[in-house]
Amino acid sequence: MKIKINISSDIITKPIMAEAILETGVLLNISQAHFDRSRGEVVADVLEDKFEMMCESLTSKGAVVKKLDTPINWDENECVECGACLSVCPTKVFSLDDEFNLQVDETKCIQCGTCVAMCPHNALSLGNNG
Ligand code: SF4
Ligand code: SF4
Repeated sequence: MKIKINISSDIITKPIMAEAILETGVLLNISQAHFDRSRGEVVADVLEDKFEMMCESLTSKGAVVKKLDTPINWDENECVECGACLSVCPTKVFSLDDEFNLQVDETKCIQCGTCVAMCPHNALSLGNNG
């Protein structure tokens, strides 16, 4: 399952993710990471049955952890297949099949919201836990 880990400026210099991995023995597969002076944001996959353990460890070190369990919702009836979402999605959720029909693999979605803002026909939406 995908999770988002938010790290605030007061703990950004601490190796909390490495500590949590060592402490729990739970592996994280990081798919996106963004750090600047004021904050860090990491999207990672973790085994579902290990989520609570990892969440507890990271939270105890000051991080905020959310499940990303409501990926992008595509309303096929509203989609005009303009292709705008293809070019902006950072994780390649969207693709075209051999007949140039849009295909959506929501399992890759990290709920960044970029495609929602780009879609000219309101065919894309997210849940409220992103
Ligand atoms: S941006 Fe919206 S309308 Fe255009 S292809 Fe993607 S989902 Fe369809
Ligand atoms: S919300 Fe972000 S990751 Fe998810 S489909 Fe849209 S652009 Fe891709």
